Amino acid sequence: MGEIQVWPERHTLADEAYVELKSRILQSILEPGAKLSIDGLAKHMAISQTPIREALARLEAEGLLARRPLVGYTVTPLLTITEFDDLFDLRMLMEPLAARRSAERGTDRHDMGTTADGLRSMARTPEYAHDAKLSQLEFTEADSRFHAEVAANSGSTVLTKAIRRLDAHLHLHRAYMEPESIGETEVEHLAVAEAIIAKKPLAAEEAMRRHLERSRTRHRAAFEAARTEPTPKPKRAKAKP
Ligand SMILES: [Zn+2]
Repeated sequence: MGEIQVWPERHTLADEAYVELKSRILQSILEPGAKLSIDGLAKHMAISQTPIREALARLEAEGLLARRPLVGYTVTPLLTITEFDDLFDLRMLMEPLAARRSAERGTDRHDMGTTADGLRSMARTPEYAHDAKLSQLEFTEADSRFHAEVAANSGSTVLTKAIRRLDAHLHLHRAYMEPESIGETEVEHLAVAEAIIAKKPLAAEEAMRRHLERSRTRHRAAFEAARTEPTPKPKRAKAKP
């Protein structure tokens, strides 16, 4: 999966604006459909318009913002149910294959970054804290990193890129999920990780398929809820602008 790079390594003003805006979009503080004013953002963040423009262009390239003549930048809508189903159909084709390939290679190889313990620790998900939306963002980032690692471990750059281009996590985390419905993720991830470590390709493929099926069910409920009730309920004050 595409990494949700909320914290880039270098820190220019444009990076800071990008991180701040992305975080607000991911937490639905800036809701789907919200209009962004370059002038308003520049004043609010006390920086000039140039870094703001750069940040907005990056978010547009990632599909989180859309730009229309006369209207300017708006936060893109959530996936439709059809798009959501397509996304999972494609993940179901590619990610079990990546898990199988990954298990054929195993871990602790000299030409790979992943050790058995490294993969196990990536399979774990962070504890939920008091700020539900922020916790969900951390959870989604951890989930994204694990899926990206399994893909990279397959040794196929074509497969890794294809999975990354789906940007699944970038879209999924924007529909709010109840913390209890995602508690199962860690157990499912560990099943995938252990099968890869044990070099059991069929078990790894099956474990990834099961994880995606369950993940699809968990996310679908959140997406349907988000579409019937377009205003999410972030548990913090609304930020301006
Ligand atoms: Zn996962």
